[in-house]
Order: sequence, then structure tokens, then C-alpha cells
Amino acid sequence: MRALEDDFDRPKEECGVVGFWTHPEMKAEVARMAFFSLYALQHRGQESAGMAVSDGNLVTMHKGMGLVSQVFDETAMTNLKGHFGIGHNRYSTTGDSHVRNAQPYHVSTLHGPLSVAHNGNVTNAAALRKALMERGVGLMSTSDTEVITQYLAAPVPFKDRTAPRWEQRLAQLLDVAEGAYSLVVMTRDCLYAMRDPLGMRPLCLGRLKNRDGKVMGWMVASESSALLTLGAKHLREVGPGEIIRIDKNGITTVKPPVAEKSTAMCIFEHVYFARPDSKIEGQTVQVVRQRMGTQLAKEAPAEADVVFGVPDSSLPSAMAYAEATGLPQTEGLIKNRYIGRTFIEPTQEMRENKVRLKFNALRENLEGKRVVMIDDSIVRGTTMYQLVRLVREAGKAKEVHVRIASPPINNPCYMGVDLASREHLMAAQMDVDAMCKAIGADSLAFLSPEGLHKAVRGDEPKPCGHCDACFTGNYPVDVSFFEESDAKRQFEL
Ligand code: SF4
Repeated sequence: MRALEDDFDRPKEECGVVGFWTHPEMKAEVARMAFFSLYALQHRGQESAGMAVSDGNLVTMHKGMGLVSQVFDETAMTNLKGHFGIGHNRYSTTGDSHVRNAQPYHVSTLHGPLSVAHNGNVTNAAALRKALMERGVGLMSTSDTEVITQYLAAPVPFKDRTAPRWEQRLAQLLDVAEGAYSLVVMTRDCLYAMRDPLGMRPLCLGRLKNRDGKVMGWMVASESSALLTLGAKHLREVGPGEIIRIDKNGITTVKPPVAEKSTAMCIFEHVYFARPDSKIEGQTVQVVRQRMGTQLAKEAPAEADVVFGVPDSSLPSAMAYAEATGLPQTEGLIKNRYIGRTFIEPTQEMRENKVRLKFNALRENLEGKRVVMIDDSIVRGTTMYQLVRLVREAGKAKEVHVRIASPPINNPCYMGVDLASREHLMAAQMDVDAMCKAIGADSLAFLSPEGLHKAVRGDEPKPCGHCDACFTGNYPVDVSFFEESDAKRQFEL
């Protein structure tokens, strides 16, 4: 079943993960903490949610399709007992939209329970899947997370089979798995957190204290905004290629991170995915988006009367663009924040102009004016076409100048973000002038790739590298398997 949000032309978020370990004597309500942290990460995945909680003996799990608030109720929460656990919000990038692909994954092993939740996309999952099957391992789903779980449960045999050696298993996974993955892994007595060597997906670490200031334990989450929600102190990010263990002894780095200069953090986290109040690479996303707006103003000023942003992710860029150009900022569009998750089918007429279900133009602020409309990206261009029409027809704007706070998206993402296939990406099919005509704007301009990197790095250059493949085609991992599949699909079409 499709939610209305799925029809909007936006990049689809990846997933959100959380993990907790608390001292048993602190009697922390880990399931409730996981619930509220997943709630804080709802923007990263709205298709399914789940959590697994353990008291060291018994693992209880609950997962289902829908939003966090739809999947968990009081009965489910009461049954989830334990002092450590992991949780997950999913948007499917690999695998079908089906509850069997919802996470966490859980299996029983010779060495006790193993639960795994994962954010990203393992680009060589097909090869790992085949290798597992050749070793006699059966798989039940199409998700790469199951491949990871089974790979950890049934690694290439170690000499000593009597010890669990989870840390070697995780390190071995790091050696063979390619692509993007931030993992939280729960075993019988501890929590592990790990990021792929390129550090493509974020993962951060925080400390939990109780009301008396005593350390209750620690948590990891895809974004620091989830830590803030629980009042946890943001300690640091889990480094690229780093494996950490959290248990009764505290935090131990099992495998140190790789050198930051060889990393490829997804730059789209800064553009669109992450919450503006999250810190990524030591920077608050809101501030980075403001720098994008300032840079965009330098690169693409417009002769206009007012500036406004398409709510919500482009609002910081619009604010900074207005400040840098000296144009007044206004509200041009009001967003209905709840319509996107409805599963009720609109009428055909409504569907043809679905932007009206989500946005209303503020005629009082726009009528007769030359407006600059800032958005964060254009994927297929269908939503932007409708937005321009809305601003012209309902808002009565005299001219609509569209400015995009990121470069044109020319290439698909194979690392866990659902942008669109190449033949559906507007910028892959036409140049900027043709795009401008197609969306019906008076002018259209994008931030340059160099300008985006400059905005992300800020005044103090960061040592870390970024993936910008959807803008430049420079993939940090081998994606030939996917490109061959795409070419075959286009030929079949
Ligand atoms: Fe992020 Fe784009 Fe790279 Fe995908 S291709 S990981 S969306 S920067």
C-alpha cells in the first residue's frame, strides 16, 4: 500500500537506527527510550519500525509496518523488557516493502541471540548472498540486513568454534561488505556499533544520565537529534570503519576508525536527509544549510522582490539567501505536515495536482511580486512543476525564479538512497534551460558542486571526504553491477 508521501517527488530517506545499553541496576526503561528516539528519527524511514530488547537472557522483539506511533502501543511496550536493545525505522531501498523485511533481524546462534539493525545499502549484497547460500545458509527475505545477520551468525569458520568471537566476525564483515552501512548489533551481553569504512551513513554516540546525574548507560543513534530528545550527552560520532562495544565495562573501541581523508560521507545528509538540529561531522545541519543559501546567493542572484523556501528542509537556505542578497524573506507556501502519511487514495483529479494536497500558496505575500523560490533539490521535476504553477496561479506571483541549494541530480544512488533511476532524473535527461522551461519557471539555477562542498566544509576545512556521486557520477564504490542492471532494464523497456 502506498502512502501519499510516496507520490511526492522527493529523495526517499534511508533508515534510522538506535542502540542502548544501560546498567541493569539503574532500571532504565530502554523500550520507551528506544520508542522516543525512533520517533525523533521518523523522518529517516516511515515504512516500518521495530525494536529488540534483551535482559541478558531473553530477547523480546516487536516490529511492524507503518510509523513508530502505529507500530507500538502500550501492550507492545509493556512486553518489551530489558536493559539493552536496538531499534530501527525503515524505508526500503533493498528488498520489498513487506513486514518480513522490517528490522531488527534476529537469529539464535550457537553463542546466543543475535539481533541486527542496519542503515544503508550493501552494494555487493548479491555476491555475499550467493556465498552464504553456497555454504548452505537459507535466506528468508530480500533484505541485505538478513545477509549481514547471517554473515555474522555463520562467518567463514574460525579455527576456534567454541568462542563467539563477535568482534572478529564484525571485523571480517567490514573486510567483505562494500557500500554503506551503519550497524547496531545486540548479542547476549553487549551492544556493538559499527560504521562502514567510507563512513557513508552517520552514527553517533551519547551518554545517558538519570535525574541524579548518575550514568545510566550509553546510546547510539543515526542522528544526534535522537540523543537530544532523551537528554543524552553527545559524546562523538562513531568513526568510519570503527567498531565499538558497549557493555558493563563501558565503551571499548574494538577496531579504530580509518583515516578520515579516505572517507565518503553522503553529502545529501547535509542537503536534505538529516534533521536541521542534528550534528554531522561536528556541524549543526541548520548552519550548513544556511551556508548553502549564502553560497547560492553568490552564485545565482536574481532580480526579484521576495524570497521564500519550500518547507521544510530548504528554509535555512532561503533565510541565508535572503540575507545575502538583501531581498526580504517571506512565507510563500504553507505545508500540511500530516497529509503525506495518509493511505487514503485521493480522487484522480486531486492526484493530478497533488501538490495542492500538501501546500497552499500565501497569495497575500506573493501577489504581483517577482519571487525567488528556494528548494533543496529537483529529482524528477514533477513536484517542482506543480509548485511553480501553484505559486503563479494561486499565489498570483508575477515572476517565479527557482533556485536550488544543491547541484543538478544527474545520477542514481546505489548506496541506500532512493532518488530515481537515471531515465527518471530530470537533470540526467535535459540541460538547465530545458529544465527551466519544463517546470514553467522564469529562471532556474543550481548551486555548483564546488559551492556545495565549500558550504559543507565551512571556514575550517574538514579532513573527511564526501560522496557526491548523485551530482558528479564519481561513485566511491564499484557500482558496475547496478549500472549493468539499469542498462538491461532500459533496453527491456
Ligand atoms: Fe548520498 Fe548521493 Fe552519494 Fe547516494 S550518491 S550516498 S545520495 S551523495
